[in-house]
Amino acid sequence: MTAPILEVRGLVRRFGGVTALNGLDLTVRRGTVTALIGPNGAGKSTAFQCISGVIRPDAGQVVFNGQDITGARPDRVTRAGLVRSFQIARGIPRLTVFENLLLYGPAQPGEGLASAILRGPAARRREEELRERARAIAARLNLARVLDNPASALSGGQKKLMEIGRALMAEPKLLLLDEPVAGVNPTLAAEIAQHIAHLRDEGMTVLVVEHHMDFVASLCDPVIVMAEGRLLAEGDFQSIASNHQVQEAYMGRRVHA
Ligand code: ADP
Ligand code: MG
Repeated sequence: MTAPILEVRGLVRRFGGVTALNGLDLTVRRGTVTALIGPNGAGKSTAFQCISGVIRPDAGQVVFNGQDITGARPDRVTRAGLVRSFQIARGIPRLTVFENLLLYGPAQPGEGLASAILRGPAARRREEELRERARAIAARLNLARVLDNPASALSGGQKKLMEIGRALMAEPKLLLLDEPVAGVNPTLAAEIAQHIAHLRDEGMTVLVVEHHMDFVASLCDPVIVMAEGRLLAEGDFQSIASNHQVQEAYMGRRVHA
């Protein structure tokens, strides 16, 4: 069996008196679309932030692709191939979709458009590669038609797709998606699920936080459930849905919400 792409061990993160992560262990196997679910306040977003280097854990370890990246800064984590897309699509509104994608090509210091032109053929070739990559990603996400439109003119669902596209520009081995279909209509949610399934079929690994259980049921295996900052259960959707502890964790929260 090949080593998992991501191993999180004993992750702890406190915010003042609140313990958001309380010894979280989780493993993501290669080639899966793994869901991370749990009631509000379970610590899912904090887990994503610790894994992607946005915040540092107080204790514990994050091993990605055999490399200890605990506490590493986001740019280093991204370069290692672990790329996070944000819950709120945040492209730069006045730039076109194409330009938004280009901004997130693999980071190469000094390789902006201007320096590429000044620095001659090799750099220009690289710039052309990035453009090709942006076009290919737009085509696969059904964004080719709107490539030259400003990002501000996109529908909500198209913004979500552009956000996934931006993450893909960074050539991820593991893609973290925080609520990729929140606020999206069911038709488009199904389309986004298909795009993610295709990425998986091509060998990418995806870890996704999502509240829409139709989406999780149709796409994700395994499903990891968090509650109160730690792992509560893991299994396929059916076993999770019929798990009493999981049901209680959701109920308990709803009562207090
Ligand atoms: P989830 O994404 O599962 O809803 P979060 O990771 O956002 O959960 O939050 C876990 C707990 O940590 C919650 O009690 C939340 O209020 C708290 N928390 C998260 N981020 C912060 C922060 N920046 N400052 C203070 N408390 C936070
Ligand atoms: Mg959250």
